[in-house]
Amino acid sequence: MTTRTVILGAGESGTGAAILARHLGHDVFVSDFGLVKPRYADELNQHSIEFESGKHTESQILNADQIILSPGIAPKVPIVQKAMEKGIPCLSEIEFGALHTNAKLIGITGTNGKTTTTMLTYHILSKAGLSVGLAGNVGKSLARQVATDDKEHYVIELSSFQLDGMFKTRIHYAVLLNITPDHLDRYPGYEDYIASKFRITQNQTEDDCFIYCDDSEPVTEFLKTHPTRAQRLPFSLEHICDPGGWADEKYFHINLQKPETQFNMDLQQLTIGGRHNTYNSMAASIIGSSLLIRNEVIRESLMDFKNVEHRLEFVATVKGVDYINDSKATNVNSAWYALESMNKSVVWIAGGVDKGNDYQTLAPLVEDKVRILICLGKNNIKLHQAFAKHVDMIINTESAREAVQMANRFARKDEVVLLSPACASFDLFDNYEERGRLFKEAVRNL
Ligand code: ADP
Repeated sequence: MTTRTVILGAGESGTGAAILARHLGHDVFVSDFGLVKPRYADELNQHSIEFESGKHTESQILNADQIILSPGIAPKVPIVQKAMEKGIPCLSEIEFGALHTNAKLIGITGTNGKTTTTMLTYHILSKAGLSVGLAGNVGKSLARQVATDDKEHYVIELSSFQLDGMFKTRIHYAVLLNITPDHLDRYPGYEDYIASKFRITQNQTEDDCFIYCDDSEPVTEFLKTHPTRAQRLPFSLEHICDPGGWADEKYFHINLQKPETQFNMDLQQLTIGGRHNTYNSMAASIIGSSLLIRNEVIRESLMDFKNVEHRLEFVATVKGVDYINDSKATNVNSAWYALESMNKSVVWIAGGVDKGNDYQTLAPLVEDKVRILICLGKNNIKLHQAFAKHVDMIINTESAREAVQMANRFARKDEVVLLSPACASFDLFDNYEERGRLFKEAVRNL
């Protein structure tokens, strides 16, 4: 009997899943509660895939053998709840794609650093000439690639939401970069968020690798009580991890205790700076070494990698002042790493929608490095309370342009203006990308 696969959401992931389901000969139906973008509607039509937009017709959905969820569809939406009550398997698009390829899967998760590490790893594998695809939150839908242009390796960025819809996928190289409180609005408690991240290891075998940050306490604590089957390859900036990765003042080192898997890299030569990016670079290098990619190729890749937009992105120097766009820093921990990596006096632009932030951890860094705080948000009370005694001046602004103009007015030569908000952007902007773009535009217009 033909499998009926219903797909919820008709964006890149949903359309990709539909194409794979059609390719597998399934009876396919796509349902999107919002509007379907014309380019995806065209594609679905071209493949003769039936779809609806603006509604979820229950009779067409609840007769499915399986339901594929796009990343934007939360498990709590009523139609998914109903499907689950009926016992219909509901899986993520990544799971669906992953179950239909024989490729080696490299999955990257963590609270912060996923996109950077995913792009960097992809860069190393591409430079080494491997057959490799990029998927997850970045790149094209995994299911689409599996259906139309299957590769031997996939580097996949995995958010905890995606991991929640994954049950059987075996990740051959699983990376867990760090865990700090985030998305606590979606999980009943911190423990649940941590457990969700660890789903990345759930189907690993002894032949696989689990690559993780040994300096992240929630990670190491969880490991004490939850054994993993895969070979553990930790990395740290605080102590030697052998096998694994570690650093001294000048170099980071990778040793996997196999022939030809010893690698050293001068920290000065990394194109992406800051402690956090040393972690990301170590994680990507461990994967490279595990795949026996030559040291020269890994080194070259680390030396010519261009950082992803909105992540500690250098914008311009105006009147001796550097402007840096780190709009993607939407939580306290990522702003911590941004501030920590600054080696000049800072005019810090922060604020927006606070997800229950505790600013305590930032206070010593702000005291040490920040001279002026420019708040960019509708409600800045918490920032004032947290930092009034640590900076010389606090200014409220309500647009990227105004914030940049204030920075231009008050910053001194040789200072750095850093947009690293520690908050989400939805009070004043559509998303963090818009916030970053408007910031850059304002800097270029100075
Ligand atoms: P994600 O995809 O997990 O959101 P990104 O690579 O987009 O992560 O980086 C998001 C933000 O987190 C950036 O502001 C960046 O400076 C910061 N960041 C990057 N890597 C790390 C890390 N390993 N630890 C903490 N913060 C990081």
